[in-house]
Amino acid sequence: MKFATKVIHAGIEPDPSTGAIMTPIFQTSTYVQAAPGDHKGFEYARTQNPTRSALEKNLAALENGLDAICFASGLAAQDAVMKLLSSGDEVLAVNDLYGGTYRQMVRVYGQWGLKSRFIDMTDASKVAAQIGPATKLIWIETPTNPMLSIVDIAALCAIARERGIMVCVDNTFASPYLQNPLDLGADIVLHSATKYIGGHSDVVHGCLIVKDAELAQRLHFIQNATGAVPGPQDCFLILRGIKTLHLRVQRACENASAIAQYLLTHPKVSKVYWPGFAQHPNHEVAKRQMRMFGAMVSFDLHNNTEENARQVLSSTRLFSLAESLGGVESLIGHPASMTHASIPREERLKVGLTDSLIRLSVGVEDADDLIDDLEKALDAAS
Ligand SMILES: *Cc1c(COP(=O)(O)O)cnc(C)c1O
Repeated sequence: MKFATKVIHAGIEPDPSTGAIMTPIFQTSTYVQAAPGDHKGFEYARTQNPTRSALEKNLAALENGLDAICFASGLAAQDAVMKLLSSGDEVLAVNDLYGGTYRQMVRVYGQWGLKSRFIDMTDASKVAAQIGPATKLIWIETPTNPMLSIVDIAALCAIARERGIMVCVDNTFASPYLQNPLDLGADIVLHSATKYIGGHSDVVHGCLIVKDAELAQRLHFIQNATGAVPGPQDCFLILRGIKTLHLRVQRACENASAIAQYLLTHPKVSKVYWPGFAQHPNHEVAKRQMRMFGAMVSFDLHNNTEENARQVLSSTRLFSLAESLGGVESLIGHPASMTHASIPREERLKVGLTDSLIRLSVGVEDADDLIDDLEKALDAAS
């Protein structure tokens, strides 16, 4: 099955008791047994729920995996991956990533003796030298957040495989439509389904997709033993969002391309970060591992004060000032004070995340209207 067919059909069967074409919301906590142990495969809803199971089958298909495990949020999914490790182990993570990922690794797992190091992974050949005997997990986010650098997934997975190290790719920014890390050698794909997969800014959800049955079993065990499961209503909303994933991401990428080109020519804009530019340092890798170049665009201003950025941020009318990304509506954000506020300023500046950096999540509106909105907001900047 091709992607556009999978989003509609993979894992989805009409309800056997009624023929309902849409997967019902099984709003139940338990299931009746005919005799002790004589049940239909469902015992208790933390462990199994049919709405969740349908979603897990669908997600596994979208990432060309064997199995998926769904969670109450993207960070709950990350938490389950971290629980595969033991104290004394080390995570080697990309140094430009979601602020909450950094916060969980450092402030929650740090105090349990799990070390995390954050390094530049844009040159894969330099990563091998950073791997130590305690390194058990490599954590990739690509495109990175918010600088939109690209990490070569296949090259890093090859380095990790030689050394028996697990690789988890946070694929939230790309979505399964643009990039499938399991095909490139990754062991685990993580999504904050809150973003493109759900796509309508109406639900918080996370998932892991794997291709190895034993790893899937360990993660299902952690999911059941620690309990961060999503409710059936949320699973239904994610399933509903997925049906248009390919259409939404396609349009959002086209819009982002038009906006990135527009910003590049604007006299008040000093830098535009978008992997679709031929001059982007990792453009060739992006072309190889992504179907399109994504709908996230970051840019900086010549007058690079936070005050000047704030001027732009509070002047857009279509781009709403908000955290998050990946919805049908366009959002504008200020990483330094919003999504990345939990990362120390020195760490931020090292990757180019200045006080004036602005991040766009481009939605599926009309591109001309979006450009017009940015033009007016930039008029307000000095
Ligand atoms: C939002 C986000 C997360 C966290 O997901 P939640 O659903 O908010 O818990 C993780 N990684 C990336 C790249 C994100 O954008």
